[in-house]
Amino acid sequence: MTAKSAPTKWQSVKTLNRSNLTKRLVAKLTHDEAVVGGIGNTNFDLFAAGHRSQNFYMLGSMGLACPIALGVALAQPKRGVIALEGDGSILMALGCLTTIGMIQPKNLTIVIMDNGIYQITGGQTTATKESADIVAIAQGAGIENSVWARDEAHFEQLIDRRFEESGPVLIAAKIDAQPAIGQTVRDPLAIRTRFMQGLGTGRRSPLDVS
Ligand SMILES: [Mg+2]
Repeated sequence: MTAKSAPTKWQSVKTLNRSNLTKRLVAKLTHDEAVVGGIGNTNFDLFAAGHRSQNFYMLGSMGLACPIALGVALAQPKRGVIALEGDGSILMALGCLTTIGMIQPKNLTIVIMDNGIYQITGGQTTATKESADIVAIAQGAGIENSVWARDEAHFEQLIDRRFEESGPVLIAAKIDAQPAIGQTVRDPLAIRTRFMQGLGTGRRSPLDVS
């Protein structure tokens, strides 16, 4: 018997632009939602879309946008939390999707910007370029409400919602390889401090030395 592979949905969606989608998303945030941007161009475009003290920009540690966003979502269950992540990073951290699928945090939304390359390190091909389907993987992990954005208008529809309810949701978009339009200020301590203030939890850590 010859196995025939079914066409995957991502092959028919429009290629979008990360900066454009990020601006559209930030424009929808009216309830102090927390946004966690993954490393590289994902958080560069988040920063360029307009800094908010509820934004957290992950610098250097690949694959941590979703785990950090999950922690925030669990700590503040009444706040909408959004993770922005690239394809290379989510492929590195697929286990977190199974945890999110198991816990079902209703206030967590994941947006995957999938250009099929490790853009920040020079454009090496990722598995999503040829075969891996992030939406199918997420659904298999238990995030039933996972969907490809067909075009800009569909993306707008998908994010036109209250982010603190009806989750978890995963929205994936095929994007082009345009570089980010900005650059995040590389100051991890300031990023952490402002994020904590933005979330109303400015308590000092015992590890703070000054
Ligand atoms: Mg990528």
